[in-house]
Amino acid sequence: EEFPVDRSGNPMQRSITDYFGAVVPPATFDNPHLVHFNAALGEELGLGTPEKKEDYALLHAQYSAQNISPYATVYGGHQFGRWAGQLGDGRALFLGEVTSPEGIGWELQWKGAGATPFSRHADGRAVLRSTIREYLISEAMHHLGVPTTRSLSISLTGEEVVRDILYSGNPQREPGALMVRAAQSFLRFGHFEYWSALGDLPKLQQLADYVLRRYYPLVGLKGKESYEALFDQICRRTAELVVEWMRVGFTHGVLNTDNMSVLGLGIDYGPYAFLDAYDLNFTSNTTDLPGRRYAFGQQGKIAQWNLWQLANALYPLLGESKALESALDRFPEYFWKLHDSMVHRKFGFAEQSSDSAALVVSIQSFMQSHEADYTLFFYLLSEQKDEAAAMRALPAAFYRSLSQNDLTQLQHLLQRYFQLRGIQQVPRETAQKIMQETNPSYILRNYMLYNIIEEVEKGEMEGFRTAFERLQNPYQRSADSVPALRPHKYDALPGCTMLSCSS
Ligand code: AMP
Ligand code: MG
Ligand code: MG
Repeated sequence: EEFPVDRSGNPMQRSITDYFGAVVPPATFDNPHLVHFNAALGEELGLGTPEKKEDYALLHAQYSAQNISPYATVYGGHQFGRWAGQLGDGRALFLGEVTSPEGIGWELQWKGAGATPFSRHADGRAVLRSTIREYLISEAMHHLGVPTTRSLSISLTGEEVVRDILYSGNPQREPGALMVRAAQSFLRFGHFEYWSALGDLPKLQQLADYVLRRYYPLVGLKGKESYEALFDQICRRTAELVVEWMRVGFTHGVLNTDNMSVLGLGIDYGPYAFLDAYDLNFTSNTTDLPGRRYAFGQQGKIAQWNLWQLANALYPLLGESKALESALDRFPEYFWKLHDSMVHRKFGFAEQSSDSAALVVSIQSFMQSHEADYTLFFYLLSEQKDEAAAMRALPAAFYRSLSQNDLTQLQHLLQRYFQLRGIQQVPRETAQKIMQETNPSYILRNYMLYNIIEEVEKGEMEGFRTAFERLQNPYQRSADSVPALRPHKYDALPGCTMLSCSS
């Protein structure tokens, strides 16, 4: 059997969401060109690598598997805290589902293959810039061990697309691109919100039953109780996702309910950023100013707010039930428990005590006020054997130069830190192992992406390929894998710290 039919012999399958949207043929592109194919994911999905003309045409959205009519799904959502009404896949099309050799069903989508009935006033296109960003971050997240949608390929469409990144009133032409992305499901909170807002209970129930049957089979309950359990599971996965983002210093930037996966995956990566300086108030999205609703440190709270909208959407399936409310009430406790345990692992603590909790907060507040690079700080800390070594190494992790007074403060903190590790009697090797598994050495910072994008736009793939290799081992430790501070020349360059939604 050949691509696009998967190697295990199953033809691409349809999925239920077929009936929850509109069949839409992709746009015609006269001169598409493959920029990158993720061979490892191709293997994992059982697709192999493209060989024939049709294989390439499929990746370029110029060919469909015979039994498939590509479609866009309809959803709704709350954007920046307000009900936005009907949304939907404005530039994503379902192109088929394959079963991997492990028996896992994966949905495939083109993103950027043209307008759909849900594009509103937009063009259904994606630019190369934003496509590279989504493509690389998805794979980076996967290798960091953070739940995410995946990337199979990028193509240039051969078209030029007009965008005004700076909202300057002076739009620029940019190369158009599309990607093939993969996930076990692309269903969002917004899918439930849409059918619930319409008052279409049969559709709402069909959707909930589908999600239960396919993705939460262990729930094993019936009727009302199964929906309660489903919601509880989604709460948990969502909390787990956000805690993982906070572990690696990730800010999504647009946590609207239509960008919240029902499977707890990171999805729809737009104006995201990894932290350079540790800052709970950092927002990566220029559209998120001045409110900073989607700031790094707000993500847990916002996730809960979004879950509240999902609970409202599911409520009609339950009648009189307090179960959704209690799951929501439990969310902060579950979230903070995971969060605190994650933070303790970043510091290499074996257990939590009131002393360790207080110390962690003191160190974080020092990191925040003195602008410690989040990744470099923990990378360096995990390499130190004692306070003296840490005092020599750690000042290099700060964007601000530290005064004598600052250094004294830092020394006190480190003294308490190593004392506490001593009291906990964790062997240094154990602590170091925990820290090395928890603290990445490689993250895709926005300035790095900025440089990669500039090169690819000129047709140079070397930086892209190097990054694509490197992101596959984000915990690697060696002399040449020490993280670096963001160079100052990028401080004020648009696209190197914050970004707009324009993509
Ligand atoms: P986002 O917040 O970027 O995930 O997108 C919000 C909504 O706008 C979704 O329904 C998208 O499908 C839609 N959208 C974003 N960009 C475009 C575009 N260029 N063409 C059509 N729809 C778009
Ligand atoms: Mg979206
Ligand atoms: Mg987007």
